[in-house]
Amino acid sequence: MKSCTKNPYSNIPDEQEAYFAILRNAMVKEQIETPRYGSPVVTDNKVLAAMRNVPRHKFVPEEMRSNAYADMPLPIGDNQTISQPYMVGIMTQCLELKGDERILEIGTGSGYQTAVFAEIAKEVYTIEIVESHYRKATQVLNELCYKNIKTRFGDGFAGWPEFAPFDRIMLTCAVTKIPEPLINQLKDGGLIILPIGETYVSSMLTVIKKEKGELAQTPIIPCRFVPMTGEIQKN
Ligand code: SAH
Repeated sequence: MKSCTKNPYSNIPDEQEAYFAILRNAMVKEQIETPRYGSPVVTDNKVLAAMRNVPRHKFVPEEMRSNAYADMPLPIGDNQTISQPYMVGIMTQCLELKGDERILEIGTGSGYQTAVFAEIAKEVYTIEIVESHYRKATQVLNELCYKNIKTRFGDGFAGWPEFAPFDRIMLTCAVTKIPEPLINQLKDGGLIILPIGETYVSSMLTVIKKEKGELAQTPIIPCRFVPMTGEIQKN
């Protein structure tokens, strides 16, 4: 049995946790719910509440902790990043979650987005191709007591057929073409959010709706994400 405690980093003193809570509330107020750069505002109360709850500082490397609530992505090792808070907010909002959804996430990274999902949705299935990220994220998510998350180490290209179909799918890595298995594992009426485009340079955050087998694409905002690796690079 894994131990489960609300305070996985018991080396963080209470007063520091209180300080992080202040930073977290300020992050939501100033970066997430305030209009900025002409980008869409996050107004979904479920998303705002989740982001006020999830201790982002526990998902970043210790030496980055003081910047955990800053308005930027942060390195988490192996050339990967934890997404900028606003990007997590807008991507989550675009999935129009009610609370009873089963979500598939490709690219667990730090696990922060996974935790935000777990606060809102019924079940979250997340796949990560870099073993060290998988291990670290799984540990933090377990220690934070999330019971509705399943993590897996592997290539997300093939999705997770055992648990399909999903109501929502998120890719946190950029592709030029959505892997076919992911489309097949999305329920009719379901949504996918992902960065589409020239990886490393600029992508377009895009929502895809599947209806009667047809896909309708809506561009949201330009963004920058790391490229999807693994099987997709062979095609
Ligand atoms: N939302 C995450 C950011 C993840 S960065 C966070 O906030 O921390 C993108 C992640 O996708 C990286 O961890 C990368 O290793 C992972 N990734 C890239 N290609 C993948 C693939 N084929 N399958 C699963 N994960 C993949």
